[in-house]
Amino acid sequence: EEAAHDGLKWKYYDPEALEDASWKLSILSQLDSAVDKGEVWVAYQPKFDLKQRKIVGAEALARWTHPEKGPIAASEFIAAAEQHDRIGKLTDFVLEQAISAAAIVNRKHPGFGIAVNLSARLLTDRSLVLRLGAMMARHHLSPDLLTLELTETAELAGSGAAFDMLSSLRDLGVTIAIDDYGTGLSTLDYLKKIPASEIKIDQSFVKTILDNRSDLVMVQSTIALAHSLGRKVVAEGVEHQGVLDALVDMGCDVAQGYIIGRPMSIDSLTKRLSADRRSSVA
Ligand code: C2E
Ligand code: MG
Ligand code: MG
Ligand code: MG
Repeated sequence: EEAAHDGLKWKYYDPEALEDASWKLSILSQLDSAVDKGEVWVAYQPKFDLKQRKIVGAEALARWTHPEKGPIAASEFIAAAEQHDRIGKLTDFVLEQAISAAAIVNRKHPGFGIAVNLSARLLTDRSLVLRLGAMMARHHLSPDLLTLELTETAELAGSGAAFDMLSSLRDLGVTIAIDDYGTGLSTLDYLKKIPASEIKIDQSFVKTILDNRSDLVMVQSTIALAHSLGRKVVAEGVEHQGVLDALVDMGCDVAQGYIIGRPMSIDSLTKRLSADRRSSVA
C-alpha cells in the first residue's frame, strides 16, 4: 500500500522495469555464446565523402539475430554489454570481421576505409593495442585505413591511462574519431584531450538542421571549430536531400545516413561500390 504512494518505491515495483532488467540479463548471458554460434554478424554503412562525391569507406555495426527472439537492436545488447563490462569479445569479433572485409574490398577499391566502434571502457585493456596490430598485419590492412570510433567517452573522465592508450593506438597509425559528438558531458574538454582526427556530429543535431535554427548554428560552428583544429567532420543520420545539400554548403567533409545507404551486408556494399564506380566512369 505504502509503496504505491511513494514515487521511489513505486518505481522499484514497476513490473515493466523488472521485465526489462531480466530481459537485459538474459541477452547479456547469451551474448558471448551467440558470437561463437554465429548469431552475431556485421553490417556495413557507407561513409560518403561530400567533396569527392563518392563512398570512401564504411562503418561496421554489430547485428544479432537471435534464433527465437529475432533481431535484437544494437542499442539494447551493446548498452547492456558495456554496463556489465562484457563488450570485449564482441569488439574483437567485429574488429576481425571488419578488418578482413576491408582488406578484401581494398583489392578492388583501393583506399576504402573501415570504421569500428570502440567503447571507451576498453581503453583500460592495453593488450588491445597488440591484438589490433596483429589483426591488421594478418589481413594485410594498412592501419591508415582503420578508424576507431570512440563511444561512451564519458567513461574517459580523469583516466590518464586511457589517454595514454589512445596515444598508443594513434601511434599504430589508426585514425581516432569521436562518435556522437555533442551528446554526453564535457565534450569541449574531450575535443582538447582526445587525439582524434575525426569528429562525428550526433544525428540528433543533424536531423533537424532545416527545422531548428539552433541545431543549424551548432552544426555550423562545430564544423568551423573542428576545421580550425585540423579535424575532419562527419555528419551522422542524414535522411533527406535538403540536409545533405545544407551540409555540403557548410563545408562538412563526410556524411552518413539512410539517404546514402542503410547498414547492409558486405555483399550488398561491394555491389554498391562497383555500381557507383561504373556510373561515375560512364
Ligand atoms: P553509432 O556508432 O552512432 O552508429 C550509428 C547508428 O545510427 C546505427 O545504429 C545506424 O544504424 C543508425 N543510423 C545510421 N544512419 C541513420 C539514419 O539516417 N537515420 C537513423 N534514424 N539512424 C541511422 P545501430 O546500428 O543500431 O547502432 C547503435 C549504436 O550501437 C551505435 O551508434 C554504436 O554506438 C553502437 N554499436 C554498434 N555496433 C557496435 C560495436 O560493434 N561495438 C560497439 N562498442 N558499439 C557498437
Ligand atoms: Mg559509430
Ligand atoms: Mg554516432
Ligand atoms: Mg551512438
